Amino acid sequence: MLSKKWNERRERYDFVVIGSGYGGAITAARLANANVSPKPSVCILERGKEWPVGSFSNSAEGYAANLRADGNPLGLYELLNFDQISVLKGSGLGGTSLVNANVAIRPDKEIFELGGWPKALTLAELSDYYALAEETLNVMAHPRAAALAKVQALERRAVQIGGHAQHLPLAVNFTKGPNPQGVHQEACTGCGDCVTGCNVSAKNTLYMNYLPLAQKGGAEIFTQVKVESIEKTADGWLVHGRWQETNSKSKKFSLAAGNVILAAGSINSTEILLRSAELRKLSVSPALGTRFGGNGDFFGLSYNGDHNHNPRFRYAAGVACRGRPAWSHHCGHGAAQQRRYDSQPLCD
Ligand SMILES: Cc1cc2nc3c(=O)[nH]c(=O)nc-3n(C[C@H](O)[C@H](O)[C@H](O)COP(=O)(O)OP(=O)(O)OC[C@H]3O[C@@H](n4cnc5c(N)ncnc54)[C@H](O)[C@@H]3O)c2cc1C
Ligand code: SF4
Repeated sequence: MLSKKWNERRERYDFVVIGSGYGGAITAARLANANVSPKPSVCILERGKEWPVGSFSNSAEGYAANLRADGNPLGLYELLNFDQISVLKGSGLGGTSLVNANVAIRPDKEIFELGGWPKALTLAELSDYYALAEETLNVMAHPRAAALAKVQALERRAVQIGGHAQHLPLAVNFTKGPNPQGVHQEACTGCGDCVTGCNVSAKNTLYMNYLPLAQKGGAEIFTQVKVESIEKTADGWLVHGRWQETNSKSKKFSLAAGNVILAAGSINSTEILLRSAELRKLSVSPALGTRFGGNGDFFGLSYNGDHNHNPRFRYAAGVACRGRPAWSHHCGHGAAQQRRYDSQPLCD
């Protein structure tokens, strides 16, 4: 287990990191391992629980039981429905990396040229950091991608429109053994369960790399700790929240911090800031909570095709999304999904 018992916490940390997804885990790992003196004390507060390899459910009943809700605050998946957007995310040590599709591509240069980004953020400026993250997440293309039926399907379609399918870089481990953080990982079996949680230990979630790195550097990790608001004090911050001992039992806490890193995901970080403005008089921008957008632009479906992409199923069907017909994900969105729809998703 990576997390410590809640009653072992200190009264104050130099850095309190809220959330253990990519934003929180990477920041905590870099702060805890920074070559500075004196060494700062760092802790991570994660509202979800720790999900060791082998603990992910593999049945429809299990997924339903793991849906996070008011009465089930330790659930793994959170589905938030707003007027114009719905958001699915993970809740647990490792954040949404526990249940995402492992695709690790760099954004196009043009993304940074869209209005709204700070001028200092350019692809060129960030490229060394992307390389470092790719190295730590052990990103690589599927070594046998060209042999996968769905990649062949994508290649056929790509050729029809004058291109070729690219094999996506994935945060997946394809060889058995200890990774650079000393965590033993098995090789990917291609089971396709990435989005419901990898029980093989092949998926390079943050639980396999950045979180062990943070812990090695001295960061203290606490789970089942939900931050509700933050308050500015004369010499730093007070972090207020609840320690969720079980699904039905919780206790309030306040923790002192020199600095707070808010990395609870775009929705929940916004929620904490808005609540802090209301309850703790924190000054925030009036733009906070506006201009959200999704990253999946559309889905395209095909069925009754000439080729079966998965010999286990009778019907040939495909799903392509985000207008990227020439890209493929290595194993689909999960065997369970395929079982339910008799179809084969073709990309992330
Ligand atoms: C099904 C699915 C598939 C995806 N596939 C891909 C993909 O293939 N490639 C890709 O690049 N992206 C993918 N994504 C998106 C990607 O996973 C997210 O963009 C990324 O995880 C966001 O990182 P984050 O650190 O901002 O937030 P998160 O990873 O969501 O982490 C936030 C953490 O903060 C915790 N938290 C929230 N509120 C509190 C609180 N009040 N107190 C304490 N802790 C709190 C949460 O429990 C969570 O652990 C996918 C997402 C989903 C849902
Ligand atoms: S395909 Fe299976 S073994 Fe491979 S990373 Fe996904 S869940 Fe793990």
